[in-house]
Amino acid sequence: MSQILVTGGTGYIGSHTVVELIKAGYEVVIVDNLSNSKLEVLNRIEAIVGVRPKFYQISVQDKEAMRKVFEENDISCIIHFAGLKSVGESVLYPVKYYSNNLGSSITLLELMDEYHVHNIVFSSSATVYGTPTRMPIVETDPIGNCTSPYGNTKFQIECILMDFAKSHKDANVAILRYFNPIGAHESGTMGEYPTGIPNNLMPYITQVAVGTLECLTVFGGDYPTPDGTCIRDYIHVVDLAIGHVYAVHKLESNPGLVIYNLGTGKGTSVLELVNAFQDANNMKINYRIGDRRPGDVVENYANCDKAYKEMGWKATRTIYDACKDSWNWQKKNPHGYEE
Ligand code: NAD
Ligand code: UDP
Repeated sequence: MSQILVTGGTGYIGSHTVVELIKAGYEVVIVDNLSNSKLEVLNRIEAIVGVRPKFYQISVQDKEAMRKVFEENDISCIIHFAGLKSVGESVLYPVKYYSNNLGSSITLLELMDEYHVHNIVFSSSATVYGTPTRMPIVETDPIGNCTSPYGNTKFQIECILMDFAKSHKDANVAILRYFNPIGAHESGTMGEYPTGIPNNLMPYITQVAVGTLECLTVFGGDYPTPDGTCIRDYIHVVDLAIGHVYAVHKLESNPGLVIYNLGTGKGTSVLELVNAFQDANNMKINYRIGDRRPGDVVENYANCDKAYKEMGWKATRTIYDACKDSWNWQKKNPHGYEE
């Protein structure tokens, strides 16, 4: 049986995707250097699906070590999650981001040539749309002019993949542009636990809820939105994970290059998310309205019709579900995957 290679498979989105792939009947091989995840994730995956995926602790940039993965397995498709993802860190250490994110993608494409693997799914981001000019965002809207080195890496990898698809007539490439993943596995055994103080809204909220942090600062209350706070498209991580299974199916039909927004199509403000968390979990979140965060766009939400029309995928879980699941994960694992 052929296998799906999942790079970054012990990370937040990767681990949830591995579970959905195994549930869908795929055999999975994970490559992760554990730079931002823990080995314990494999135990959690095994507890949910009853199968322990094969695991290689190596960097995707290490071509020699990666050759071994391709030689020891019969890879039919790659899902490439591995990458560094902190916007703020990418401003401080841009070369580290260009090296890791572009380097690992280029290495994979070279190995695809060498081992005749034709299918790849890539984790892109809504950040490639830069400062969008209209809402909701459709896939044909302009990309580039990204606001961070991290965003630039996603944009540049997309360009490389588009050129790769053009020059390889038998290649199938799915570029998935994620909006804002939140939530956790419904079992409460897998979720997101960023190192240090979280930059993203949901982990910040859950850490205030669990008492690790004192108070959420809402970045800006004077935006031109109904309640003055910024609007994003928050998608449950399990819906996002399932989107990858649909993308793998899609690539099996030899479509060439496909690009999809993966979001819910619905904008939610910061205060709406805080209120949903409070309602879903029957608790109060200590918050204050602070200054705007430099670089934030007022609103960002997706039109996801294309993913539905062409793959039959759409998000089905609500913000409320995501708030319950995020809290269930956080309260059962106050220190993430650490003992
Ligand atoms: P994550 O940090 O939890 O997972 C990424 C994984 O990749 C980690 O386990 C890390 O150890 C691994 N990794 C990094 N560099 C590697 C390398 N060179 N070799 C092997 N493993 C390596 O992040 P995530 O939230 O699961 O994101 C997955 C992908 O989705 C990333 O590419 C990210 O940029 C993209 N993305 C994430 C979001 C988000 O908000 N979480 C939004 C849009 C796009
Ligand atoms: N946000 C906030 N306080 C925080 C973290 C985030 O008010 O501590 C806001 C942020 O300004 C943005 C939204 O929450 O409007 C989502 O931010 P996140 O960093 O999670 O995602 P992104 O801005 O990258 O879409």
